[in-house]
Amino acid sequence: MTPEPIAVNELLRTRRDQMFPKLTAAQVARLEHHGERRHTQAGEILFEPGDRPRKFYVVIDGNIELLLARHDGYELFYTLTSGDFTGEMNALRGSAGVVRARAGHDGTLIAIDIERLRTIVQTDAELSELFMRAFILRRMGLLSEHSCDVVLIGSGHSADTLRLSEFLTRNTIPFATLDVNTDADAQTALERFHVPAENVPVVICRGEHVLKNPSNFELASCLKVNPQLDDSRVHDLLIVGAGPAGLAAAVYGASEGLDVRLVETTAPGGQASTSSKIENYLGFPTGISGLALAGRALSQAQKFGASLSVASQAVRLHCERQPYVLDLAEGGSVRANVVLIASGAQYRALEIDNLQRFLGAGIYYAATALEAKLCKDEEIVIVGGGNSAGQAAVFLASSCNHVHILVRSDGLAESMSSYLIRRIEESPNITVHAHTQVVALEGEHELERITWRRGTDATEEQHDIAHVFLMTGALPNTRWLNGCVALDDRGFVRTGLELRPEDLSKTRWPLARQPYLLETNLPGVFAAGDVRCGSVKRVAAAVGEGSSCVQFVHRALRELTEPAHQPAAV
Ligand SMILES: Cc1cc2nc3c(=O)[nH]c(=O)nc-3n(C[C@H](O)[C@H](O)[C@H](O)COP(=O)(O)OP(=O)(O)OC[C@H]3O[C@@H](n4cnc5c(N)ncnc54)[C@H](O)[C@@H]3O)c2cc1C
Repeated sequence: MTPEPIAVNELLRTRRDQMFPKLTAAQVARLEHHGERRHTQAGEILFEPGDRPRKFYVVIDGNIELLLARHDGYELFYTLTSGDFTGEMNALRGSAGVVRARAGHDGTLIAIDIERLRTIVQTDAELSELFMRAFILRRMGLLSEHSCDVVLIGSGHSADTLRLSEFLTRNTIPFATLDVNTDADAQTALERFHVPAENVPVVICRGEHVLKNPSNFELASCLKVNPQLDDSRVHDLLIVGAGPAGLAAAVYGASEGLDVRLVETTAPGGQASTSSKIENYLGFPTGISGLALAGRALSQAQKFGASLSVASQAVRLHCERQPYVLDLAEGGSVRANVVLIASGAQYRALEIDNLQRFLGAGIYYAATALEAKLCKDEEIVIVGGGNSAGQAAVFLASSCNHVHILVRSDGLAESMSSYLIRRIEESPNITVHAHTQVVALEGEHELERITWRRGTDATEEQHDIAHVFLMTGALPNTRWLNGCVALDDRGFVRTGLELRPEDLSKTRWPLARQPYLLETNLPGVFAAGDVRCGSVKRVAAAVGEGSSCVQFVHRALRELTEPAHQPAAV
């Protein structure tokens, strides 16, 4: 599912046949085997925004009106008639929907349990393609409609407003925003819900619950973003991190029949989601935004039955025995026979005392369309000389007045791909400052001024620049591993050939065989992607490792149930 909204009228004009395709008589007959006929009466509500999906409906006669919440009531989005069907991506994900479905006339429907719908999508190739495409396009249409089911009220300059907006956007949740600095309606909305202005940001969830500066977990809970899962179940494969590596493992694992569970701190896509355009990923000659790639991968994983929980952070792995147990920050734990560490890495911050104060208020770690809007026609700084810095520079140069790239080294040649260096050299509004670093940030509520220092002569210059993008290298997300697996001296996870004899003796490696290629020094605990020591920090590499590790996961699972499968010592 690509989460980038396209106006619904445009979608209906150009892709109505795919968004709302008519089922043939033969397809309806096939679906009839999976459900039962039921009658509806005009005005009957089939589901409301906030309901988890339970049934999937095919219209035989009569109709179903799909309605969206607006400020002053509900508005018709689309009317399903004979041969049409309900559903969008939430049906496969198990998260709450955003639409009210109401019978417009008396009629007849086929009602199919949502579990059966998942089976159909996995087993009937023709219907699978038809449903997946329709569900994805419908979610795109819903995103463009800014339904008032969820309203974010806050200041465009506040870090928490940006966090909440990013969480909703990256999880493809339709929402409307009211900016207290620019929208006259924001004050009216705050008064209506008796919220003092100093309590912003607030989220009005489902039109009634007022969440004051909620955590991502509180917001996800109110919106029922995550499916209801039985945490006493022992999963085949637990994946920590839904970046490219984790998502690839989920697609391959679930498509090969494994019971796959993913936990993710924020939203699917990892670092890749913060990239405005990935141009070197195979198969996308004109590039693809990280958000779109993540959305597609997630739809694919969910089609095959993988379960994802977002706003769900791994805080401690218990590795004394299999099944392994993982504690989550919000409480509760998950159990699995095999664990994949795919928690990636995150960018280093600058060592400047008041940096935190300006996060989202002038300091950014991502350069997506969201940030580009904030600094349109302004002068900006990008810190860092890697590919992510180069991409951000080229992307932002198209909308910003001037882009300054600050690097500590003497240029970009060692750290950046040459195609990006060429584009930077050809852009008249990008300047590269070698041997230069930011040393001070100033501003009252948001960043207003920065000082940078040139290493060659230690001169300091002050500039009225209010937007700084930090693209300065990565640290691995491995604290939650609780000393369970061997790490290198920078904290990246050792696997396969990177493991030293002392790593194996430390965990008393119990098997006759050596660890598999992507296996750590704990049997059945694997690592893939940026978090792994020696990995190539690229989307394609993370996807390759995530998908190829699944073959070793099968072997590790077989070893648990059939000791005879244990290979002799290598
Ligand atoms: C701005 C930018 C642009 C880039 N552009 C390109 C490009 O054009 N081409 C290219 O090939 N590569 C690019 N990269 C690099 C690429 O995005 C990474 O190599 C890739 O995303 C690594 O994937 P991963 O799954 O290993 O880790 P990540 O993408 O880092 O994903 C890890 C995930 O794990 C989650 N996580 C972390 N800790 C926990 C925890 N304790 N519990 C639960 N979840 C957790 C994180 O929230 C994250 O979603 C770019 C990176 C950035 C930042």
